[in-house]
This record gives sequence, C-alpha cells and structure tokens, in this order.
Amino acid sequence: MVTLPPLPYAYDALEPHITKQTLEFHHDKHHNAYVDKVNGLIKDTEFENGDLVNIIKKADGGIFNNGAQVWNHTFYFEQFSGNPQLAPAGKLADAINKAFGSIDSFKEKFANAAATQFGSGWAWLVIDEEGNLGIAQSSNAGNPIREGHKPILTCDVWEHAYYLDVQNKRPAYVENFWKVLDWKVIEERF
Ligand code: MN
Repeated sequence: MVTLPPLPYAYDALEPHITKQTLEFHHDKHHNAYVDKVNGLIKDTEFENGDLVNIIKKADGGIFNNGAQVWNHTFYFEQFSGNPQLAPAGKLADAINKAFGSIDSFKEKFANAAATQFGSGWAWLVIDEEGNLGIAQSSNAGNPIREGHKPILTCDVWEHAYYLDVQNKRPAYVENFWKVLDWKVIEERF
C-alpha cells in the first residue's frame, strides 16, 4: 500500500514563486492520482507491499510509471520551503564547486537540463557510482535510481508543475524554483 504524504508546508508557503493553486492541483490531484493508480495496479502482485524504490528498480509499465511518479513527487515537494536556505554550504558546496566550477555554473547547467528535457520529465542532481556529482535528465516517470545513481535534487518539468503560474515559460519556472529550493534539505540528502 502506497500513501500520499501531506505537503510539508502550507499551500501558500511558496508564493509568489509557486502558487497555492499550482500546489493544490499538483499535490492533491496529480500526486494523489499516481498514488491511487499504483495502489490499484500493485494489488496481488510482487509489488503489493508498496516499496517504491523496489518498484523503481524492478517494475515496468503502469506500476513503474505510477510508482516512480509517487516517489519523484514526494522527493520534489520535500525540498522546498517558504524560508529556504538559498545556497549550498559546507561539503556540498565544495563538491558542487569541484564538479561544476562554481555554484552559478551548476545552476546554469541544471537549468539548461531542465529547459532542454524534451516533453515531460525531470532534471536531477545525482551522485554516481564513483561518488561524483552529475546532472541527469529523465523522461516521463524516469528516475536515476533505476541506473544505480543516488538523486539529491530534482526539478519536475511536466507542464502541470508550472503551466498555471507561467504558462509555457519553463525557464521562468526554473528561475522561481531556485527561490524556494531549500539547500538545507539537499545538504542532508548529500
Ligand atoms: Mn508533477
């Protein structure tokens, strides 16, 4: 059984960057629908216990798509705050500087990955098998755990994540994304 975690902040906490209306639809309708669908699909299968990481690693078709989308959305919503730490510090800042040259250079490359992901999907900051940081893109419900990488940050670039707020302007959404991203959460994941 998979459950829908509540948003860890008020629906209007991220305004004006991500609006209450977007969060109501994104969490209560989209995220909730993935939970309902995966629960219907895993009944009487090997995935019935609702272990989402196991589903991401091993499932295919609708169970993978809906299960991965539940995990991806929970991971996405948990990284925001109305009072965010606006830049990485400590060991994570050192690792980003080493991998990408500077924090600004990382943000530019990540924003480019988010903007150029064709169609629906996600942009990720991951730790690879060798322990190095890297940027990844995935289509639809894709998740880097499937390739053995550990995600520590993600940006949902499905249109439902931003269309109510900025319509077709995905780069404007990514600009707003940085203003509510709480780097304290990313440091803890790292
Ligand atoms: Mn979404």
